[in-house]
Amino acid sequence: MQPEKIIRLSKSTLGVNEKQAVLDVLDKEFLGMGKEVQIFEEMLTEYFESPVVCVVNGTAALHLALQAIGAKPNDEVLVPSLTYVSSFQAISASGASPIACDINENTLTIDLKDAESKLTPNTIAIMPVHYSAGIENLDEIYNFARKFNLRVIEDAAHAFGSICNNKKIGSTGDITCFSFDGIKNITSGEGGCIITKDENVLHRVRDARLLGVEKDTEKRYKGERTWEFDVKFQGWRYHMSNIMAAIGIEQFKRFSTISNKRKSIAKYYDSLLKNQKGIYVFDRNYEFVVPHIYVIRIPNLTERKDLQNELLKNGIQTGYHYQPNHTHTYFKNSNRGGLEVTEKIFPELLTLPMHEELSFEEVEFVCLQLLNYLQKNL
Ligand SMILES: *Cc1c(COP(=O)(O)O)cnc(C)c1O
Repeated sequence: MQPEKIIRLSKSTLGVNEKQAVLDVLDKEFLGMGKEVQIFEEMLTEYFESPVVCVVNGTAALHLALQAIGAKPNDEVLVPSLTYVSSFQAISASGASPIACDINENTLTIDLKDAESKLTPNTIAIMPVHYSAGIENLDEIYNFARKFNLRVIEDAAHAFGSICNNKKIGSTGDITCFSFDGIKNITSGEGGCIITKDENVLHRVRDARLLGVEKDTEKRYKGERTWEFDVKFQGWRYHMSNIMAAIGIEQFKRFSTISNKRKSIAKYYDSLLKNQKGIYVFDRNYEFVVPHIYVIRIPNLTERKDLQNELLKNGIQTGYHYQPNHTHTYFKNSNRGGLEVTEKIFPELLTLPMHEELSFEEVEFVCLQLLNYLQKNL
């Protein structure tokens, strides 16, 4: 028997305001990068108290950040293997090589001891990934970067709105990149942004997102077009469109509602799953953290597929984040060993449904079905 309603792992949640905003842009018949992108950037800049540059997606944000710090062939960037393939592709797109690092067993974020063992004279940067909004060791990451003279590019795709030491993620870092793809904490359809106070980086990414056309951003925001210009470096077609920004603006306006709901879902999962036999719940402080995904570990789980299939029979979608990148053919050279924790933990991770429209009854149902399965099978 098919369950009536599927409890989705993740989804976009778009209200009438988002839809109306898109229609308004369509009516204006100016779809490219202009007023709406400027407004969205200004809103974000005020929120982060730091300059923000909007782009077409989170991967492009990472790529532009790397290009702006001068990443080139033979350079190396330290990155946890447990991340979306986006982080790795962005590094290789810049010409540099991703070096796969292990994770800390308790936080699922980059293990700095392992990262240190992989430093070479070619290492130029570290890309910490705030996996499931794991931001506990950010201070140590910045100490590490200072000590070894590395740039930091934060892949903060999982952590929009999270707060670390009383400061918003993105407001104080070296370079921080967010994604606004359809299922992230806020969406602009697709989309992403780069945040930094480094003037050189800002200048580079503003031009590079528009094919390297000098000062095209400034012209577009004045409603002008650039006819005569110079191009001094490689650029990309990575700008954000007004249609996307219109969605992003409306999502951002109600971000406090979105973030409170996400936090309360995570807290409810915690309360139902903590201290349950067979389950390890990660220690995140949801007063300060806005989770993109809710991840648990089931030690000794050998057949994750069976568990997922059983839950799906009851209408519950689950997932796992992510297949470690050093296992991909294209990135096998990123593997310099020392990835034991990643390899041990990865098969035991499970991501439970998390989105704004998930009800507390649905959270209870998910936990009940999960615990039932574990009681019978572990
Ligand atoms: C979503 C995501 C990205 C990239 O974002 P896109 O907007 O999809 O390009 C990068 N890193 C992580 C960890 C992500 O989850």
